[in-house]
Amino acid sequence: MRSERLQATAAEAFQRMTRAARADGVHIVPVSGHRSHAEQASLYDSYVQQYGQETADTIAARPGHSEHQTGLVMDIGIADGECVLQDCFEGTPVGDWARKNAHRHGFVVCYPEDRQEWTGYAYEPWHLRYVGPQLVAELQADAAAEGSAELDTLEEYFGLGPAPDHPAGRRPPPPGASPPGSPPRTAAAGTMCATPLRTPPIGAPL
Ligand SMILES: [Zn+2]
Repeated sequence: MRSERLQATAAEAFQRMTRAARADGVHIVPVSGHRSHAEQASLYDSYVQQYGQETADTIAARPGHSEHQTGLVMDIGIADGECVLQDCFEGTPVGDWARKNAHRHGFVVCYPEDRQEWTGYAYEPWHLRYVGPQLVAELQADAAAEGSAELDTLEEYFGLGPAPDHPAGRRPPPPGASPPGSPPRTAAAGTMCATPLRTPPIGAPL
């Protein structure tokens, strides 16, 4: 299905990850991968209609700002459809496995718990972004240096604040934020969460 597609490198990593999970008796189901601009616009608009814009901005990216448009993100679920895209997903075997193991396959949970002031998004334990093994290793090295068990979000790692027109961006930066004007780390195009799409996605069936 088109909605379950990823760029080729991410798709291969995803397949390796699902095989590894299977070996542990866990069945990861791909739920939502690449979305076109039009698909994201439709999704965002439906949330605005349903919940109002303020809430919609915490659960869906505006069109042009969704990681799903990069072709590097897959929302995952479990076989019986229980807890799909809901908080209780974290407590399922798939959610638990992904939280502990996704990084071994180059994926990060982009929107962790209690980091909304950085990411602009509520906790999404199902939203896995492929960043590759090199960046995972750098995030792990940083976490180890900070004595933290949790990896920084990509926004923290690259010294970015929330998008300026996002509601979260109007709040003061959280403690530890880079001071204004400090040089951000150099990020490869398309590697950050919530950045606009810069490279066209290359569809690869899963
Ligand atoms: Zn997602």
